[in-house]
Amino acid sequence: MPLDLNSPFARDIAHHIHPQTNLRLHESEGPLLIDRGEGVYVIDADGKRLIEGMGGMWCTSLGFSETRLADAAARQMRHLPYMQVFAHRSTGPVIDLASQLTTMAPGPSAGECMDKALFACSGSEANDTAMKLVWYYHHAIGKPEKRKIISRRRGYHGTTIASASLTGLPNMHQDFNLPLTGVLHVTCPHFYREGKPGETEAEFVERLAQELESLILAEGPETIGAFIAEPVMGTGGVVVPPEGYFARIQQVLRRHEVLMIADEVICGFGRTGEMWGCERFGIQPDMLTCAKQLSSAYFPISATLVSRAIYEAMLVESDKLGNFSHGFTYGGHPVGAAVALETLAIYRERDIVGHVRQVSPRLLDGLRALESHPLVGEVRGVGLMAAVELVQDKGTRASFPSARKVPGYLAAAVQRRGVLLRGRDDALLFSPPLIINEAEIDIILNAVAEGLDETLAWLRQDG
Ligand code: PMP
Repeated sequence: MPLDLNSPFARDIAHHIHPQTNLRLHESEGPLLIDRGEGVYVIDADGKRLIEGMGGMWCTSLGFSETRLADAAARQMRHLPYMQVFAHRSTGPVIDLASQLTTMAPGPSAGECMDKALFACSGSEANDTAMKLVWYYHHAIGKPEKRKIISRRRGYHGTTIASASLTGLPNMHQDFNLPLTGVLHVTCPHFYREGKPGETEAEFVERLAQELESLILAEGPETIGAFIAEPVMGTGGVVVPPEGYFARIQQVLRRHEVLMIADEVICGFGRTGEMWGCERFGIQPDMLTCAKQLSSAYFPISATLVSRAIYEAMLVESDKLGNFSHGFTYGGHPVGAAVALETLAIYRERDIVGHVRQVSPRLLDGLRALESHPLVGEVRGVGLMAAVELVQDKGTRASFPSARKVPGYLAAAVQRRGVLLRGRDDALLFSPPLIINEAEIDIILNAVAEGLDETLAWLRQDG
């Protein structure tokens, strides 16, 4: 059938640039057009129902039809659709959200909360803000040369110039002239891939802590401002850190007065089975960034939370300069704040963390049962985030050549069975809405099991 050039499908190809997409392939494949959402399902333009196994992009925690969030947005839009928070202005929703977030977020020592919240619209902006605050803080305390930031290979922190620099994925840097100087990357704490033959997990942790310390000493501790980490790496392949990893890393950071920034953009608000990934992994951050599930993605909003010590230094610097000269037009948007407040209220009322703890074993145990499949090298995860890593040889753990696009084939096979997942590098990733129930998890598990068999048959036939 000839393509109707006025169809949304054709106009998408004609006019729309898709981020994180193979642009050439899109010209022939076109878009997957999603029309509407219902619970954990999205429904495409042909009426086909698909479980959104990635929760949009790790974000639609309350699914796709939570009317309370739509109502909260509409109420606020009618009442006060916009107000800036520059120059001492404020609004009720922003004040309530800042109070709630700072009292619920873990701080730099046991029992301590965060002190202040600064709002933006995306995880990237929150991390850019954190990076600028590292510099601002060190100027305030008289150590302006402490400005390098250490991140980890395979970490994901965003796509703006600074946050893409923090990101440790080569394709986010290549031909964009990134990373910026002063951003350093250390080894990803993925024992399955990075552990040496014969090395125990505890030895692996020790090696990574020593690598970090050697880097700090080689660069000069007086030049290192901060370390940034996701409690569990998401986009880099759901890398759950080994036992004791963050405790050892933080020992090193404290010894050299290096700030700890926790990027909770994915982990925050229940994803790991705790409210915060920091709680799950014993992280005591000086700054914490969050977004995504903060509003269940119904409105773009993010926050950078800072400790009392950071804020006090900001005060000193603002005194010196006469102003704190940072901020975004839409940071502190009252509609985003109202949606976030309603989201947090729903989390509390429905005990979303308790729900994640209750249903997540179904997903993780179900996926682990697939570890005997010839294509599955490792299943890893925590709470409602997981990855199934594919290998062509279980003994050597050799991956498939990326040109074969095996995870992509598997994701397509799973999609034909009614489940949307993301195939990335060597793995299939899972991050369903937190409201998912066990019956819906079973649908995902069946689709993946059948998809793996189909992929294996395709590979065998393909030689
Ligand atoms: N940090 C983490 C951990 C993320 O997963 C992401 C987005 N996937 C970001 C930051 C960037 O967020 P955004 O896309 O909203 O800029």
